[in-house]
Amino acid sequence: MYEINYSGRAVSCTENETVLECLLRNGIEHPHSCRNGSCQTCMVQAVAGSVPQQASAPLKPSLREQGYFLPCICQPQDNLEIRPAAIMERLQVAVTGVESLGQDLVQVKLQRPEGFSYRPGQFINLFRDEKTSRCYSLASHPHHDDELVLHVRRLPDGRVSGWIHDELTHGDKIEVSGPLGDSFYVADDQQQPLMLIGTGTGLAPLYGIIRDALHHGHTGPIHLYHGARDAAGLYLGEELQQLQSEYKQFRYVPCVSRQEPGERYAAGRALDVALQHHPQLKGWRVFLCGNPDMVKLARKRAFMAGASMRDIYADAFTISA
Ligand SMILES: Cc1cc2nc3c(=O)[nH]c(=O)nc-3n(C[C@H](O)[C@H](O)[C@H](O)COP(=O)(O)OP(=O)(O)OC[C@H]3O[C@@H](n4cnc5c(N)ncnc54)[C@H](O)[C@@H]3O)c2cc1C
Repeated sequence: MYEINYSGRAVSCTENETVLECLLRNGIEHPHSCRNGSCQTCMVQAVAGSVPQQASAPLKPSLREQGYFLPCICQPQDNLEIRPAAIMERLQVAVTGVESLGQDLVQVKLQRPEGFSYRPGQFINLFRDEKTSRCYSLASHPHHDDELVLHVRRLPDGRVSGWIHDELTHGDKIEVSGPLGDSFYVADDQQQPLMLIGTGTGLAPLYGIIRDALHHGHTGPIHLYHGARDAAGLYLGEELQQLQSEYKQFRYVPCVSRQEPGERYAAGRALDVALQHHPQLKGWRVFLCGNPDMVKLARKRAFMAGASMRDIYADAFTISA
């Protein structure tokens, strides 16, 4: 049994319990979401004690060096003194618009807080109330958009997505924190081919990444495969067609898996179609976003097709429930 001291409050962590489970069991309302190390909402900083290596493995080296780790995947092997991560400070922002993008899908625009810098493709935590937050990816681009833009799909009985769809409105004040995530474009090799595969609102970060690559003058091919069951699940088609006609290096392939494809769509799941078109991904940089099962499988198949693990960037839209 190890002692966890959380900003001055000491609690005991039982065997096989994670630090996050211990905090919540003891009534400490520490923000969290996915509980499996992918969203980073619960990140804390260790002030004293040694943290098991795997608890900080998903974080950037710069964060690891400062003692940050993820309590949701940390079973302690030492007494720990920890505090909430300073970069998770909550910022109040005004909602500047909530507009429909299609069936069960809205675009949320938020005032960008002063000094808030981010890379397109990163995500933020959006708080419904003191205890309840969810991650949403940034589809906006800091040089081209004044606001932060999110794409939110309504999930059946979803506590936060339902609230966003039904109640959130222009002028509301909400809290966000972040940005988080390291799935974004880096302009180190502008000729490298880019493969982007997304399902549903997995398009949000990919849209940001594509515009960032083009903004930086990326000259290599950029291929986007966006998939949904049917055409109603696809969106931003016109904007993406427009980009395709402006930039000859960009190709957009919308895919439908459970509908007759017709002339506008490719038939099948986005991952399958992408790999049929590009069975060899050696030397490619790959971005994967959306459904967690798709992301897991795509990571494996992209690697088997020759992509290097260090060139595969992924955001699985894990659901906390
Ligand atoms: C890194 C990251 C980025 C993301 N980016 C986006 C994005 O850009 N856009 C987007 O739309 N989403 C995104 N998500 C997903 C988002 O964070 C939320 O998980 C999603 O909006 C659902 O939240 P919710 O509160 O509406 O649903 P929840 O209330 O969390 O419920 C989710 C689902 O589980 C069901 N459920 C709830 N409780 C139970 C239970 N006890 N047993 C069984 N089922 C239950 C609900 O009916 C619902 O269908 C992202 C997630 C991650 C991790």
